[in-house]
Amino acid sequence: MTLIVGASIGISKYPDHGNSLDILLRAADIAMYESKKIQNHAQIFQDSLQDEYLKHVKIEHELRKAIEHHELFVVYQPQIDHTGSIHGVEALARWESATLGIVPPDQFIPVAEASGQMVKIGYFILSRTLQEIQTTLGITFQTSINISVRQFMEADFLEQFLNAIHDIGMNKDLITIEITENLFIEDVDYILPLLHKIQQCGIQISMDDFGTGYSSLNMLRKLPIDELKIDKSFIDTIVEDKTAQKMVQNIIAIGKNFNMSVLAEGVETNEQIALLTSFGCDKFQGYYFAKPLPKDDLITFFQKR
Ligand code: C2E
Ligand code: CA
Ligand code: CA
Repeated sequence: MTLIVGASIGISKYPDHGNSLDILLRAADIAMYESKKIQNHAQIFQDSLQDEYLKHVKIEHELRKAIEHHELFVVYQPQIDHTGSIHGVEALARWESATLGIVPPDQFIPVAEASGQMVKIGYFILSRTLQEIQTTLGITFQTSINISVRQFMEADFLEQFLNAIHDIGMNKDLITIEITENLFIEDVDYILPLLHKIQQCGIQISMDDFGTGYSSLNMLRKLPIDELKIDKSFIDTIVEDKTAQKMVQNIIAIGKNFNMSVLAEGVETNEQIALLTSFGCDKFQGYYFAKPLPKDDLITFFQKR
């Protein structure tokens, strides 16, 4: 067996960053935390890192009480197919902290991941979503749930996931999990069979933020993926930027070749939809149709359509 070892290094200097061993060590630790984000990198301490670190610590601390204090909830963003019918919704987590105010998921999800809270929070989001969806109207639609890398890599992830679906009595065919290309940095020999098992259970698999990360065509070919989600960054510039247009056309072509359906996220204008439709995009999600909505507003949205 070959082990490949890397190191992330944090550096602090005397006397610039402190005049006692304790303070210097803490500064080096904060710098190391930053260098770990980039991986195999060396980082010298800076004052700005201290502010970021303190914010991180505060979020981590407050997040521990978020579930008990009923501060976490879920909103749902509709996904519309090319005929204008409702395909499904994406469940998105929200946190309104009593002390920090609204903290966006881009900020608290990474902290939850780093501080070992993601499994608990992920399970809460899943159960809340299933409960709310189960009691939403009589119509059937697909529900997409974001699964972070940590959650996915937990030994009993699938078992817990299936238990939650079973407890609510929901049809597995109506659930989609959204994973990202980051997952494939982890052990592919572990992930691939698990993805196949998930698909065999009837759960759909969607590749989120596609085009921004690392996944080779060779890898994609082997993956049991049902849907590619084109990242919003391509959609943002698609009308004026020819390169973005080419990228999107290529992603749609890849999806079609591999029998995957393609969804464009972050769609805000008519022009974007017209262009995406002409390229053969199957589904859309974005403010053009609706922002992520609390359950009651989602019901109203469904009734109006
Ligand atoms: P994402 O999965 O790529 O989610 C799409 C993000 O784009 C959402 O931001 C959504 O509100 C936003 N969005 C959708 N349409 C538009 C649009 O037309 N214009 C603009 N400007 N934005 C649009 P949000 O809810 O802030 O979520 C950010 C990220 O946080 C998500 O990115 C996802 O990576 C993560 N996240 C959110 N909820 C969860 C969760 O329950 N579990 C996990 N693991 N991650 C989550
Ligand atoms: Ca997503
Ligand atoms: Ca996305």
